[in-house]
Amino acid sequence: MNKYQNFINGEWLDPLTGKWIENINPATGELIGYYPRSGKEDIAMARDAAKKAFKAWKNMPAPERAEIIYKAIDYYKANKENFAVELCNEMGKVFNECLGDVQELIDMGNFCAGEGRRNLGMITPSDSANRLAMSYREPLGVVGIITPWNYPVGMPAWKVFPALITGNTVIFKPAEDTPHSAINMIKGLEQAGIPKGVLNLVIGIGNEAGEALVEQEGVNLISFTGSTKVGTRIAEKCPSQYKRVALEMGGKNSVIVLKDADLDLAVAGIMKSVFATSGQRCASAGKIIVEKEISGELTERLINAANKLKLGKGIDPETELGPVINKVRLKNIEADVNHAVEQGANILCGGKIADEGELKNGNFFLPTFLNNISPDMEIAQKETFGPVASIITVNGPKEAIEVVNNVQYGLTGAVFTQDIDKAMIIRDEIEVGVFFINAACVGGELSTPFGGFKASGNGKREGSHAMLDIYTEWKSVYIQHRSYDYLK
Ligand code: NAD
Repeated sequence: MNKYQNFINGEWLDPLTGKWIENINPATGELIGYYPRSGKEDIAMARDAAKKAFKAWKNMPAPERAEIIYKAIDYYKANKENFAVELCNEMGKVFNECLGDVQELIDMGNFCAGEGRRNLGMITPSDSANRLAMSYREPLGVVGIITPWNYPVGMPAWKVFPALITGNTVIFKPAEDTPHSAINMIKGLEQAGIPKGVLNLVIGIGNEAGEALVEQEGVNLISFTGSTKVGTRIAEKCPSQYKRVALEMGGKNSVIVLKDADLDLAVAGIMKSVFATSGQRCASAGKIIVEKEISGELTERLINAANKLKLGKGIDPETELGPVINKVRLKNIEADVNHAVEQGANILCGGKIADEGELKNGNFFLPTFLNNISPDMEIAQKETFGPVASIITVNGPKEAIEVVNNVQYGLTGAVFTQDIDKAMIIRDEIEVGVFFINAACVGGELSTPFGGFKASGNGKREGSHAMLDIYTEWKSVYIQHRSYDYLK
């Protein structure tokens, strides 16, 4: 069985710990290979390399840095299909989504490489005569990047490319469930000629390599996407070293369906939002909040649609719902549903682990809708991160808004209605960072800022030019010069 390595200072290396992690296919239970279980010593080595490489990388003209990213993109394009297959093997989602994930890598690479010729600063009017007041961005130095497994290359792309184009050097710790895709991403930049030490990949477990990266002195920023629990822990640790922190965290997202909604549109949107990526998107809907007049019809249509979904390996073209990432998550989803039932919830469909035929080898949970849920129950408050959603009936838009906002999170939300006035009022009142009208909440586009209110983040935004704020410091410079009289 193949053993894979870290990439530190331009070399592929075994972990100094001498330990390895098994990478398991979530659809079949088969072993894919062994990957480094790195520790403090590997992180320290990567920090030394990244620190040493920083000055030269910062001083390289940004358009030249961009050329390296463009070259990597050519490699990703040439290997798109193969990367998507390998991504599917370790992550499990349906193959079209795997192709989309690799496309996100390509698109975000292009977007960020464009910043190599833009990255606008400011020249502003000065208070003083004969003075030029200008401001521009400078890189932070060594940046630590920690990512989840649900977008094995898409998510790292949203962090690694903006960090690199703005002149930072990087230590990247991918999720332990999807290390192979991280290796594929690095290979693209390696063959594109990224200078040694500029980009370092250290594979390992969260509370070992991840924690070591957070605690490592000489790392100037931790850019993290993952659970609110881990993000909060990181937020507590970093400020003691004046480390910057950017956090993209969990969500408990709602879709509101008002009585005048186009139900065909709403059903299609909800099915996508609840079951795409098997409900393992930070933007996935966990609650469907519906006006009482149409609650019965919508519920029936959703149950019918869920019961028709074809479960299977993501790689099979007819599969509509893949596995969840690992056995621990599978058991957690089951426990959340069982707990909801103990508190009075009613299972409308699914509600348990799929254990028929080949499915029992993988981590499959049946597509699940619940009702009889009150907004304060745990299932309505906690992120389940699986193919499960609760249907909650309300008396009108005002109550719908209250139910949406009555959670600690504030990432995404959606409303289906034909009444533009109601849609606009809900848009104003809803406490989320990303909102959809007559479309499903599924994720953001890279041209708009992405991130959440409340416990879904710490106020930073990824995507668009807003992401540059994460990876740079503003420097303001005043240049005083002589007046015109000097030439007389
Ligand atoms: P997680 O928090 O368990 O892990 C995320 C990353 O953090 C992994 O690389 C993990 O190894 C690392 N990690 C774990 N413990 C750590 C520690 N003590 N110190 C440092 N690093 C540590 O989350 P997950 O299960 O991988 O991902 C699912 C979560 O991510 C969900 O809550 C989801 O909503 C969230 N997410 C958010 C966004 C967003 O943009 N807001 C996007 C995708 C996923």
